[in-house]
Amino acid sequence: MTAETPITQDVQTIPRKLPEGPVNIVGLTRDKLRKLLIENGTPEKQAKMRTGQIWQWVYQWGVRDFHAMTNLSKAYRAELAEKFVIEIPEMVSKQVSADGTRKYLVKIAGGHEVEVVYIPETDRGTLCISSQVGCLLTCSFCHTGTQKLVRNLTAGEIVGQIMMARDDLDEWPQPGVGTGDAGPRLLSNVVLMGMGEPLYNFDNVRDAMKIAMDNEGISLSRRRITLSTSGVVPEIAKTAEEIGCMLAVSLHATTDEVRDKLVPINKRWNIEVLLEALKAYPKLSNSERITFEYVMLKGVNDSDEDARRLVRLISGIPAKINLIPFNEWPGSPYQRSDWDRIEKFADIVYKAGYASPIRTPRGEDIMAACGQLKSATERERKSRKQIEAEAGL
Ligand code: SAH
Ligand code: SF4
Repeated sequence: MTAETPITQDVQTIPRKLPEGPVNIVGLTRDKLRKLLIENGTPEKQAKMRTGQIWQWVYQWGVRDFHAMTNLSKAYRAELAEKFVIEIPEMVSKQVSADGTRKYLVKIAGGHEVEVVYIPETDRGTLCISSQVGCLLTCSFCHTGTQKLVRNLTAGEIVGQIMMARDDLDEWPQPGVGTGDAGPRLLSNVVLMGMGEPLYNFDNVRDAMKIAMDNEGISLSRRRITLSTSGVVPEIAKTAEEIGCMLAVSLHATTDEVRDKLVPINKRWNIEVLLEALKAYPKLSNSERITFEYVMLKGVNDSDEDARRLVRLISGIPAKINLIPFNEWPGSPYQRSDWDRIEKFADIVYKAGYASPIRTPRGEDIMAACGQLKSATERERKSRKQIEAEAGL
């Protein structure tokens, strides 16, 4: 990518081909659903309440059938069933790793596929969801980056991944019994770290996360949702204002020279510009700190000097550094740093006053780790030449 290359943000989401058919209500904001109900004959005075009731059935209790919504009149349920559907992406396969990690392949409209990963831990469970099919960007260490951007996911397809996982984990509370907040949830955290750059699909990601955070929606606290970006600077303040979730940033390098190669969007917004935009985030979003993600690549970005430069760079930003041992994929041009190197790096960062957890690779046996996701069915590949040219390899 050169400085002149336009990075288009308005990649059109292919509309669902249901011109006269029923409308899928999954992913609609409260406001959109309310308007839709009114357009379809719900009295204006009742529409707000009906929206809340329907949301609760769909997002808190996982109900997919209007006829089961027993606090609505039978006639009204029948009307809804005629005009609307409650549809989520279809799970086409599931692989379970030896460590309990689950990788789902999910089919969305148009026959495309994305991957979703569930990572169980002792006191919580994290779902890693995708925001796009493929990615416009070409980070040279990332498997998704070798696949062309096919399309943005709709808000329904994004929040639908969470609903699909809840189905698989059998974790919907009984209707009327509560919201399931009493005990620890199997699916307690969501990270937008699957396929795609979430900030290049801002509106849909925002609408989906609003549903995930809404008390009558999926009701996850905004502190349990982390959006990871490669550094789309103009969208960062908007993320704080309009979503307000936790932010993770794929830093991965401490000089522009190296970051240009690893995360080519750096040529557009370099480290200095990125860090400037990040300084305001914790205050704007009322979150305590930012997570910096740093993939450990042998001999590329893992020296003691890098560690020291890293802490100098981020000084003044409340932060935690997530060190990610590189996950290799077939044909990847890098190697994972040695374990003692990673520990030494972590130690320097830690002694400088930053939490520096080393992310344990999970689900490696099923290629479910961060950055390994890529839909096997998409034939559209970026050429090696394009990737190499853009990364300056
Ligand atoms: N596009 C967003 C979110 C998806 S990638 C972003 O880039 O932040 C989620 C995280 O996985 C990012 O930090 C990314 O840099 C990292 N990642 C990508 N490929 C990886 C690999 N092969 N090994 C380890 N981490 C990787
Ligand atoms: Fe896209 Fe993120 Fe992979 Fe870069 S690391 S290619 S932004 S998914």
